[in-house]
Amino acid sequence: MLEVILLGTGGMMPLPKRFLTSMYLEVEGTAIVIDCGEGTQVAMRRADCKMSRVELLLITHFHADHVSGLPGLLLSLANGGKTGKLIIAGPKGLRRIVEALTIICPGLPFELDIRELNVREPSVFEFGGKEDKSFNHANMPIFDVTALPLRHRTPCLGYFIELKRPPVFNPTKAKELEVPLELYRTLHSGETVTLPDGRVITTSMVTDGNRKPVKIGYSTDSAPFMQIADFAHEADLFICEGMYADDAMRERMEDKKHMLFSDAARLAKAANVKELWLTHFSPAELNPKDGLPNVRRLFANTVIPFDGYRKTLIK
Ligand SMILES: [Zn+2]
Ligand SMILES: [Zn+2]
Repeated sequence: MLEVILLGTGGMMPLPKRFLTSMYLEVEGTAIVIDCGEGTQVAMRRADCKMSRVELLLITHFHADHVSGLPGLLLSLANGGKTGKLIIAGPKGLRRIVEALTIICPGLPFELDIRELNVREPSVFEFGGKEDKSFNHANMPIFDVTALPLRHRTPCLGYFIELKRPPVFNPTKAKELEVPLELYRTLHSGETVTLPDGRVITTSMVTDGNRKPVKIGYSTDSAPFMQIADFAHEADLFICEGMYADDAMRERMEDKKHMLFSDAARLAKAANVKELWLTHFSPAELNPKDGLPNVRRLFANTVIPFDGYRKTLIK
């Protein structure tokens, strides 16, 4: 099962009824969080997230609304029983930021593995899988995480996460090859087996080919530019900032290097994504839902989510 939860929908500052933008994604007991502004730990508790399952924290940039909740989040993970290491990835300079913020939460019961990513060129890293010995899960899912440098007032990364999906096991093929039942699981996990009669059976001989990865894009904060659409191409879910519904705010957004609802919708359309969730609403945008009819004219499958909005992408 793959579930995505948008923990908060606000930008700049948390409000009494709106947490700051961050995302929680969980697949088979492994969770990824993107961004942790002030209060993210509270939003996670409200959404019933499993603290001990967070293995990867991605930071988009070092503005306070995206990172100042780090000490509280780390303490909450510890309190939730996390003991295995936590990978924290983000723009260059991340180590200094994490070291500064963790002065007030010493003695965490887990190791922090800090990875500074390129802020000039897109970069990709693989996360998880059986080869990643730093994790204890027997069947850890495998993700490709692509970091795309965005156009903000400070180095900022958009993240595009692809969950690799193992091919579907086909018992008919296995039966035809007279593979003993007890070897089905080994074969499905990707290992080659040798039968008692000496025949070598590979996974591809008993499966139905690779399935398309599930793709989730997350882009905030940035001025709009077409490369974002290239990277979000045919994403199952694209989460993108939209500070204001009203296009009259365009000049201000260009100065501040942010997007309007309409910018995000145009990117979603160009990328041909399945679904767009808008987020990072300005504190002055009191009723983002009012902008829905206009934005749906540009991209029909747009959602204006509320805090804790969730969707199961794989059952
Ligand atoms: Zn922000
Ligand atoms: Zn920012």
